[in-house]
Amino acid sequence: MTTFESLGLSAPLLRALANEGYTVPTPIQAKAIPHVLAGRDLFGCAQTGTGKTAAFALPLIERMLADRRQPAPRRCRTLVLAPTRELAGQIHDSFRAYGRHAGLKAAVIYGGVSQRPQAAALMRGVDVVIATPGRLLDLVGQRLVDIRAVEFLVLDEADRMLDMGFIHDMKRIVAMLPADRQTLFFSATLPAEVRQLADSMLRDPLEVKTTPQSTPAETVSQSVFFLPKSEKRAKLVQLLREEAMGRVIVFTRTKHGADKLHRDLDKAGIASAAIHGNKSQNQRERALAAFKSPRPPVLIATDIAARGIDVDHVSHVVNFELPHEPETYVHRIGRTGRAGQTGSAVSFCDPEERSRLVAIERLLRMSIPQRNAPPTGPIPEPQPAGNRSRPPRGRRSGRPQGGRRQGESRHPRESHRSAKPAARPAAGTATATLARKPKKKHRRAL
Ligand code: AMP
Repeated sequence: MTTFESLGLSAPLLRALANEGYTVPTPIQAKAIPHVLAGRDLFGCAQTGTGKTAAFALPLIERMLADRRQPAPRRCRTLVLAPTRELAGQIHDSFRAYGRHAGLKAAVIYGGVSQRPQAAALMRGVDVVIATPGRLLDLVGQRLVDIRAVEFLVLDEADRMLDMGFIHDMKRIVAMLPADRQTLFFSATLPAEVRQLADSMLRDPLEVKTTPQSTPAETVSQSVFFLPKSEKRAKLVQLLREEAMGRVIVFTRTKHGADKLHRDLDKAGIASAAIHGNKSQNQRERALAAFKSPRPPVLIATDIAARGIDVDHVSHVVNFELPHEPETYVHRIGRTGRAGQTGSAVSFCDPEERSRLVAIERLLRMSIPQRNAPPTGPIPEPQPAGNRSRPPRGRRSGRPQGGRRQGESRHPRESHRSAKPAARPAAGTATATLARKPKKKHRRAL
């Protein structure tokens, strides 16, 4: 059997993987890691949920460790481009988790928030920059970051970047990088433009394809309630009281939402525990231990915190809010119906979330049974800043793929200053050392 040791990873990474609870590499990790370690370019056709982030982050951390250097101000060695702030934040979290014993530094850069903490982080010098294309180009233009010495480039969700009109930005960025670099290119789908782009950027790449893991276990029965946001708490309390729910995970999109729900359930006399990125390791461990006990509290979790929760006999998953990414829904409901058990997934869908539900149903290729009548009226288009799910086919605007409407801002997804990213470090904590160090003001130790 393939193990992480046999793939050639060293002790700091193996320790971090043990902390994450990963025991066996996923197929894409088993295939990709040795080749990336050997310096080869990679073309990966893989969706979220296949373990692709670790497939590129682990070997790249290893390569940087093998040739340790003090990061120069404004420069980075690894550049990861991602289409959305959410994905960039998740990749940053993964680098931090996998590199926690490695002592490397990473920064995440995206639009819609002040650039100041991001620029300050870059000024101090980092090993890894994870960026959305628009904000990166803005910072390059202001000479706040210098990408001319990048050794490792990752393009994640390239198809989505093309869909979002980032083709020219990507080409401009790639043109600034040294030709002598290692490039890892990931896409969930393979339209002709993606192929062309990959061909123009990769040198003799290893091609890895993984089968999508988007089919939820047949043992999970799914249903959805349509209701306004303001009624979600009362409905949850009612379900928890009236339905025989044994071990329940409730997913919220934000840490704040998780804490608030925890307080509300407390007031209703229902035992619960919240886990999210702001909780200490101790608090998380205590919450998980309680959740595994015979009389578990309701576990309220954000998606990122829920990674690594591997508990059998979860009877119910409640999607208190629907996720932006349809694949995340599949992950969430996969927490139940494990180990030969049956499980239920109940989702709450408010009017603003209907387009997310459509995206989920499209991914699942099924409609989710409704527990009450949906409101009539048109399904709202996804919100530009808040909603990252792709609108359902046929509902997209009439603009050509990759094009822009006249007068539209260059980076429509990054131009909303008021929008807050979910479940990720705040603007002031845009950088993090990957090592365990005492907390400093702008650096978050793990
Ligand atoms: P990704 O496809 O990179 O978004 O990863 C999907 C999920 O799988 C994340 O929650 C990861 O933490 C988790 N994951 C990645 N690799 C492994 C592994 N080898 N074992 C267990 N979980 C993993």
